[in-house]
Amino acid sequence: MVHLEFVERSSSPQTTPVVCMHCEDPACARVCPADAIKVTAEGVVQSALTERCIGCSNCVLACPFGVPKYVIAADQMMKCDLCFDRTSVGKKPMCATVCPSEALFYGSREELMRRRREKPINDFVFGQKEVKTKVSLMVSSETERLELDVASFISEE
Ligand code: SF4
Ligand code: SF4
Repeated sequence: MVHLEFVERSSSPQTTPVVCMHCEDPACARVCPADAIKVTAEGVVQSALTERCIGCSNCVLACPFGVPKYVIAADQMMKCDLCFDRTSVGKKPMCATVCPSEALFYGSREELMRRRREKPINDFVFGQKEVKTKVSLMVSSETERLELDVASFISEE
């Protein structure tokens, strides 16, 4: 459920993993006409419930980070759910377990800040909309919040 995006495909092979950011006020869940995207008490935004999802792709279009994918074979949306089956019982998400370079890290904010020069931010601005998330991106220490161009997150697949 993690996908890789090229950062600047024309000039660099650099990629970045894209995981669900688990927004505090998730646009994907708000636009779902079938109430198929549930948020747990811990703030984890789940993938679509199979019995509810009608495959309309509203969530695919609404997510500012380009996370949900409509999967044709399943005729439903599927996305990262923070490996809730694992994290709800104290295990790390599978992606963070197998990442050899810690590009994906799962742990407390304090532990992350001890291990990295960059700082984690979870406050983003898309146009006039501010989005706060449970997951953080690492940025240079001077950055307070990121103002992002939605088009830069559209997959090139
Ligand atoms: S990043 Fe996208 S898919 Fe994840 S909770 Fe936010 S709006 Fe939903
Ligand atoms: S694709 Fe499924 S989960 Fe997404 S908005 Fe439509 S019904 Fe809801």
